[in-house]
Amino acid sequence: MRLGQLSSQALVNSFITFLPALTGAYTTLSDASLKSLPDPSADFDIRNGKLLAPILIPRVPGTENSLKVLQHFTDFWSNELPDWKVEYDNSTAATPLSNGKEIPFRNFMATRDPPESRPGEVGRLVLVAHYDSKISPEGFIGATDSAAPCAMLMHAARGIDKALTKKWKHMEEKKKNTEANSKDGKDYELEDDEGVDGDEAWNRGVMVLLLDGEEAFDNWTDDDSLYGARNLASTWEQTYHIAGSHRRTSLSSIDLFVLLDLLGSKDPMIPSYFKTTHWAYKHMANVERRLRDLGIMKTGKRPTSKQFLPETDKTSAQFGWGGGIQDDHIPFLKRGVEVLHIIPAPFPKVWHTMDDDGEHLDMDTVNDWAILATAFAAEWLELEGYFDTKGKRDVKTEL
Ligand SMILES: [Zn+2]
Repeated sequence: MRLGQLSSQALVNSFITFLPALTGAYTTLSDASLKSLPDPSADFDIRNGKLLAPILIPRVPGTENSLKVLQHFTDFWSNELPDWKVEYDNSTAATPLSNGKEIPFRNFMATRDPPESRPGEVGRLVLVAHYDSKISPEGFIGATDSAAPCAMLMHAARGIDKALTKKWKHMEEKKKNTEANSKDGKDYELEDDEGVDGDEAWNRGVMVLLLDGEEAFDNWTDDDSLYGARNLASTWEQTYHIAGSHRRTSLSSIDLFVLLDLLGSKDPMIPSYFKTTHWAYKHMANVERRLRDLGIMKTGKRPTSKQFLPETDKTSAQFGWGGGIQDDHIPFLKRGVEVLHIIPAPFPKVWHTMDDDGEHLDMDTVNDWAILATAFAAEWLELEGYFDTKGKRDVKTEL
């Protein structure tokens, strides 16, 4: 991505299309559930970690290595998360360096929706990172940009999968019981006990979206950057659900677009970029604080001002227009999608240099992001009560 200004048209578009702040249901996890979240460390070993190591290679769009990394995602989901639906969004484009030749861009999507749900009814938490790497300098790895964020999202998907299965099974049983008790044959309606059920919660899904072609080949321009994201946002905008659906297009199936980028260096500072998603930022900051207080974060207890997400007290008047960072959210933001952008400001020191490799990652920070992403997704999907808390980790609650 690049620091820059949004075009004035983008500002107008985003202003027109922003809905009033969406404040959907969100349920915090108990201490016991937070302590039961899986430990990422072994899978993030930069040499042989199952999730991260295979991504730590140059992976320029259209190359063999790019296909290898895509295959890594496909294999992971088919072996470990078979209940998710895997899809690809393929497009081609000429780049400033391709001499008119079309280069392929392949986005990866893994989705898990409630059983028997209709596509036009489900609203999704969409967890996003880009998997391509920059073509120069030659041999550039892009560990924070964005190999590590991809692995964090793989970890988060696996970390919530069993609890999601349990939750939906429980809700189906309740639905059956309600139907059996209903004499008049009316449509069932789940009662809203414990604040976690009801139609809205039932129609909540999750997607991991790993985008290709984020990086510019030559100099960043509107045409030379965000290849995968631009194609997907435009495709989804024109993909209509059946008439009468609550959500008109695939684009409107996104409840929140959470974009992770440049994560894995020590002491990141993530501003809250958007007023309309500040409520979601605060939820993530809150669970970060709780994970720290419980001794789960390897980077330790910290005052709020030193957290990864320190801007919980930002007021409406303090928001600008999203900080002007060009990244994969832009084609979606322009179309009115709600975005939570998890990118540090300033960018890590290793940004776009040969030092952005596995050796320069701060593994405690990587570990903590993986846990935080899992916890946020679990709270969003209201999975409290569905984690196996018996084998929970023994963590120190003292400093
Ligand atoms: Zn980059």
